[in-house]
Amino acid sequence: MGLFENLGRKVESFKQGASDNASEPTHRCGDCESEFFTDYETCPDCGSDAVYPIE
Ligand SMILES: [Zn+2]
Repeated sequence: MGLFENLGRKVESFKQGASDNASEPTHRCGDCESEFFTDYETCPDCGSDAVYPIE
């Protein structure tokens, strides 16, 4: 199990590093799960106002 835990931590730290990359989407629609690079007030795909920042 220890090996898998170590791998999981590496993947997690890689994801965190990638979130600083400008090419990663910053917002996601909570309804259709489309991802965006812009903070839309309404989803351009489905029209939902449930667009949240990706943390
Ligand atoms: Zn949507």
